[in-house]
Order: sequence, then C-alpha cells, then structure tokens
Amino acid sequence: MSVPATTPSEHRHGHVSLEHRHLRKDEFWRAIPAYADVDRATFLDHRWQARQTVTKPKDLMAAVQDLVSPEFIADVEAGFQHSPMAVRVSPYMLSLIDWTNPYRDPIRTQFIPLGSRLLPDHPLLTLDSLGEQRDAPVPGLTHRYPDKALFLALDTCPVYCRFCTRSYAVGTDTEEVEKVSLKVDRERWAKAFEYIARTPYLEDIVVSGGDSYQLKASQITDIGESLLAIPHIRRIRFATKGPAVMPMKLITDTEWSDALCRVVEKGRKQSTEVVVHTHFNHPNEITDITREAIDILFHRGVVVRNQAVLQRGVNDDLETWRLFVRRLGQIHVQPYYVYVHDLVRGVEDLRTTVATAIELEKGIRGATAGFNSPTFVVDAPGGGGKRDVHSFEYYDPETGVSVYRSPNVDPTKLYFYADPIDLLPPSGREMWKDPAGHQRILDDAAARARAVLAARS
Ligand SMILES: *Cc1c(COP(=O)(O)O)cnc(C)c1O
Ligand code: SF4
Repeated sequence: MSVPATTPSEHRHGHVSLEHRHLRKDEFWRAIPAYADVDRATFLDHRWQARQTVTKPKDLMAAVQDLVSPEFIADVEAGFQHSPMAVRVSPYMLSLIDWTNPYRDPIRTQFIPLGSRLLPDHPLLTLDSLGEQRDAPVPGLTHRYPDKALFLALDTCPVYCRFCTRSYAVGTDTEEVEKVSLKVDRERWAKAFEYIARTPYLEDIVVSGGDSYQLKASQITDIGESLLAIPHIRRIRFATKGPAVMPMKLITDTEWSDALCRVVEKGRKQSTEVVVHTHFNHPNEITDITREAIDILFHRGVVVRNQAVLQRGVNDDLETWRLFVRRLGQIHVQPYYVYVHDLVRGVEDLRTTVATAIELEKGIRGATAGFNSPTFVVDAPGGGGKRDVHSFEYYDPETGVSVYRSPNVDPTKLYFYADPIDLLPPSGREMWKDPAGHQRILDDAAARARAVLAARS
C-alpha cells in the first residue's frame, strides 16, 4: 500500500511545527560552572533554589564565571546601580539563559539590567504608574472596580522582574528608590479582611504582592480560609510568578502545594472558585520540570491562568508568541492577559508600541484554541485600569499617544498611554524634544479623541 507524501491537512497548513511539545528534559543547569556538580534532586529542592538566588553582580559572577566577558560584567554592574528594582534571579532562571549570547537572551533581558541598554524615561511617567496606592481604602488593599479588589499580602517575590509595575513597593530599597512597606502583618491583613467582609458588593479577590509563593503554607491556609468564610466572596485568585521562575517548589514543597490545593478543594465544596494566576513571559521558561509542577495542580483540579507582559526583545515577535501560547496550552496554563508594558521607571528599553501589540494579537488569534488566545490590554496610567488594546478612541503612531476611555471607572475621563519615544518615526521623536510642547501633544490627542466620539454619537 502506498502512503501519500502529505496528508490533506498538511496541504492546507504547510509544515505544522510541534516544537511546543519539546520541553527540555536535560540537566541544563550543569552548563553553569557553579552548578556543574549539582544533581537533579538538589536542583529540584526549593530550599536550595532560594539559598542560591542571585542578588548581586558578584553572586552572578560566582555562578557563571568564565561564561561571560569582563565587559559584560561591567555592563551588569552599571545596570544594577541604575535599576529602580532590586535584582533577584533564581538558579532555575539563570540556568535557562543562553550565556553564549546574554545580550540577546529573553530571560537575561527580563531579570538582569545592563547599563548599556538603559534609555531615558518617558515624560508621562510617574512611579506608581497605575495609581494603586490612591485606590487603597486600607494599606495593601486596592479597591478600584466595584466587585473586585487586589490584596497585597506582602512585598517580596521569589525573583524581582525589572519591569515590575509595583516597583513602588516590591523588593528592597535600591539606590534609586525607597519603597512603601507592605510586610506580612496579620493585623494589616485583618483590617483588609474586615473591609472585604463589610463591603457586600465585593465578590472577587486577587491575592498578590509581592508573590503568594513567599507565603508560608500556614499563611496560604489563613488567607484562603479567611476569604472563604466571607459569604459574598465568590472568586479568589492566588497570584504567583513562582511556577514560571521556580516550578520545583510545587514539586518539593509539598506542604505549600498541599495547602494551596486544600483551599481550592474547600472552595469548590462551597461553590467558591479559587484559581492560580501566574506569569510566564517566554516559551524558554517552560521545561519538563514546569510540566511536572503544573501537573500536580492540574491533577487536583486547580485552574492556572497566565498574565504575561509584552517586552521588547523578549516576546515582541509572532514566532515566539505562537510557540508560547501553544506551549502554555500543552501544560494546561490558560493565556489570560498580555499587558502592554506599563510606564515604569528605568525600563524604557523593555517597552514597545501599541501598534506592535495589535499586530501580535491578530497573528495569535486562530493559532490555537480561542480560550488559549490572550487578550492584549493596556493598563492606562491615571487609574483607568485595563483596556483592550484595540479599544482606543484615538491613536497616533507618530506621537505614540493612544487615548482610552474607562466607563466603569470614570465615564467622563480620558486616559493616555504613550509608546516609547525611541521607537517613533523621526518626526514624532522631534515633537517630544521640547518639554514645553508635551502638554500640547496630549491636548491635541484628547481633542481628536473627543471629535471621534462626537462624530459617533
Ligand atoms: C487587574 C486588577 C484586578 C483584576 O482584574 P481582572 O480584569 O478581573 O483580571 C483587580 N483590581 C485591580 C486594581 C487590578 O489592577
Ligand atoms: S513577580 Fe510580579 S510582583 Fe514580583 S517583581 Fe515580578 S512582576 Fe513584580
């Protein structure tokens, strides 16, 4: 019997790549000189990961040794000095960086700042770019939307991301920034729970920080049970970057995983939804260790959703995204949001344009299941909240300014986002050169947005 060279579907789809199914199974960490003799059991031990976490240029040098040039190390030192975020990288992440080309590596770019790459901040920028502190009725509880609130349980994370939106609070003080303090504090938590209990229209609580991974198992139980005891709370999400940056904790810290799964199971019995929201940004972050870790949650019926941040040089191309959403699908993590990078101090090199986000979204939709196709959002400065990137009233790729409305927050207000200046056409870059003209650029964009709105009604 002869076998046709191609199946009908191959005619239609060309070569279908299955690269997303190929998860690294090798002992990839042994390529790092300091981890050359580390066996699998040690590498999977979350306590070892936490102990070996890199926070200073000299820790990095001790780990990677002669894999990098002295020039690269000098560049890292300059980057650490000017970074508003403290630096913290797990050995897992460090081992997934391609050290033969650290300048271009997507994981290096997210965690290790380089002096040579820094760009001046955008004029629109303020430190607490989302206005979270303004919407806080009690410290560490942001209540901006009617039925949902964000509970910041603590201010540390297993790693520190350069692009963190909460750089006003998260991480230790740096040379650049002194932080708001949000420590683990049972009394502060109790005030937040009391506020939630006496606000009957709240139904949905995001437990974040910082990062739920840093909470002890007993604290996960405490927060989970305190919230489950409030009858009007129907949905709880534990937000953690942990599965992306230290997946082995789910495998080896069985007390923690079990505490989380028990809260989910207890919630399910009383018809309260409890899920995990995590934060992968690149397909290289997903290995066979990740699959094993997420399977522990999946087997116990825990839904895991992903919120990614769009970053220049990390995940701003379609090939990466097609691979990424299909790989997330493989391990049953649902791509939920992609944030257009917020205006955050000191990371202008990581931002990209609204036009890029729109183009990526078009190329992703249809590549896999609709429920695994993320919504691209802009979290508009000034407290407008997340807006579908396509929903602008006006967008001028020349000035990079986009104008959004947010009727659930304030039906009369306009919110502005601005693309990074270095990616604008020369005429647009010229317009931002004169500080006296900045307000005019915004006023002009607002006038055009209002004209569009007037014409529509
Ligand atoms: C993102 C966010 C939420 C949750 O929003 P969803 O769109 O439901 O994921 C809640 N409160 C604040 C302040 C937020 O920024
Ligand atoms: S894990 Fe989240 S909260 Fe923590 S530094 Fe990264 S982005 Fe910020």
